[in-house]
Amino acid sequence: MPSTGRIKKLMAANRGEIAIRIFRAAAELNLRTVAIFSKEDISSVHRYKADEAYQVGKGKSPIGAYLSYEEIVEMALKHRVDAIHPGYGFLSENAAFAKLCEDNGIAFVGPTAASLEQFGDKTKARNLAISHNVPVVPGTAHALEDPAAARAWCAEHGYPVILKAAHGGGGKGMRVVRSEAEIEQSFALCSGEALKSFGNGEVFIERYVDRPRHIEIQILGDGTDVVHLYDRDCSVQRRHQKVVEVAPASGLPPALRQRLFDDAVRITKASGYRAAGTVEFLVEPTTGSYFFIEVNPRVQVEHTVTEVITGIDIVQSQILLAGGAKLQKDLGLTQDAISTRGYAIQCRVTTEDPANNFQPDTGRLQVWRPAEGFGIRLDGGNSYAGSVISPYYDSMLMKVTGSALTFEGTAAKVSRALRESRIRGVKTNIPFMLNVLKHPVFLSAKCTTSFIEDSQKELF
Ligand code: ADP
Repeated sequence: MPSTGRIKKLMAANRGEIAIRIFRAAAELNLRTVAIFSKEDISSVHRYKADEAYQVGKGKSPIGAYLSYEEIVEMALKHRVDAIHPGYGFLSENAAFAKLCEDNGIAFVGPTAASLEQFGDKTKARNLAISHNVPVVPGTAHALEDPAAARAWCAEHGYPVILKAAHGGGGKGMRVVRSEAEIEQSFALCSGEALKSFGNGEVFIERYVDRPRHIEIQILGDGTDVVHLYDRDCSVQRRHQKVVEVAPASGLPPALRQRLFDDAVRITKASGYRAAGTVEFLVEPTTGSYFFIEVNPRVQVEHTVTEVITGIDIVQSQILLAGGAKLQKDLGLTQDAISTRGYAIQCRVTTEDPANNFQPDTGRLQVWRPAEGFGIRLDGGNSYAGSVISPYYDSMLMKVTGSALTFEGTAAKVSRALRESRIRGVKTNIPFMLNVLKHPVFLSAKCTTSFIEDSQKELF
């Protein structure tokens, strides 16, 4: 096992599935683990999976508890934590939190605060891409002053466009605008949602790409070198949020694929990136044109599929890189040494009820028997028969990742696992997922980001 350097004790500043994922990676590195939990999570499993657990955010909202970073850092100092892993969501892209950790001698398991600032603002990331000859979707170089500025840009460049929160994420704060009449209202809604969700109301414009594929490249950087861990296809989306993820992407022309790898490495290497990250692109299947959209400077929900096809533990790599490890010298990760085998598909099983407009269901789990077996990986760990699914946090129950040597064989494994699973007490999106997995467009690896919308009749 490579050395974790000065890191001996690690806190996960997160909850649920990803906190447990982090504790597993840390335990395998022989680190002592520390959980935090909110009042609402007092009996959540993630706190029992760590060696130590402390409540945070007294008097705060359920989400606010996991955002109270000054208290979290204080808690970490009190309990002699060496490193904090922020997971995804919550504080994972918060530059002020990363800085506070570093200022207090705690390793932040993620990029530097400066990198987070660079990539947390999508307009800054776009400008970095442009300066390194990476194609971006035509759009504005900066955030827009007001709807009039948006109108003026569209008058010159045409419709449809997408209004985006500069500091957005998770598919929130985005609105497609198809005509001038919609600008005023869409701008207000988008900016308002951005302010509420991200504490910053800045919005910018991109041309709306019709029916692209969403292809992303996983990278690891050590501050000097960057390697890629190949690609993922995350085109199966609902309302700009990923639902099913695949690695590697099928049917990409090899030259195009290589350009995506090269561009992803170039842009992150140029910024001295030291962490795991994902460079996201939209690819037009008809023309083969591609466009950079953003860099996600954190572990992603769908990192599992890359781990399965490469055999590289991304969360462990994150911890080691935060401890100062070098890709080649300490981790043995040269580009030539990284290869893939077969396919992996991940389904996010949630309590969203497709028959009720995907509203999250809540309640007590009466039966909880997720399937196992050859080629199936489960990431969850927070649910059990008798546990209560609360309305306070995200509605994901578990991630089911299947792998096999062929794409069709992989889809068959995930489908079998979902059919075999028994979850009673809350509604789930499993029937919907099964319809996706057997759909001919999915099986021919031809999904675009409009697949779910275009196939509603067969899927819902
Ligand atoms: P977030 O940070 O919220 O995930 P992204 O910028 O990564 O937002 O975009 C998420 C999804 O929104 C993309 O995968 C794609 O489906 C859609 N999208 C984003 N930008 C465009 C665009 N310019 N044209 C068409 N679709 C887009």
